[in-house]
Amino acid sequence: MGAEYSHPESLSSPNLYSMERVYKSTPEQRARSLAYYYANKEKVQARMKATRSPDYNRHYNLKFKFGIDQTEYEKLLAEQGGVCGICGQSQSGSTRAKFLAVDHDHTTGKIRGLLCAQLNKGIGCLKDSPEVLRQALKYLEG
Ligand SMILES: [Zn+2]
Repeated sequence: MGAEYSHPESLSSPNLYSMERVYKSTPEQRARSLAYYYANKEKVQARMKATRSPDYNRHYNLKFKFGIDQTEYEKLLAEQGGVCGICGQSQSGSTRAKFLAVDHDHTTGKIRGLLCAQLNKGIGCLKDSPEVLRQALKYLEG
């Protein structure tokens, strides 16, 4: 084999990345990928498995969407006593999302705290607006 095969780790989405590679690659590149795959089968499979694990996606999301890593997430969680910043629920309640959502100010990008999935969506539905929320409160209380 000629030039060393490189694996940039930080391109947009891991899935998009591999799709693009398949579409854009030449037959030579594909042959080289395949050769690399057979020569490093275990390594490649381990990496493919890792990118599909919930932990990988979770880490990926935290880092790229919110700019924090697992340690910073844990710190936020500890500061909130391990529960949703509004309702005090310990996890997201939804069976799909096992973790509290990172809530951020969409204008400044600043992280406000961690919320359960329902309330994270909820405040989004209320346009992230204290004013709308006050109106909703007035409405609810009649
Ligand atoms: Zn909650």
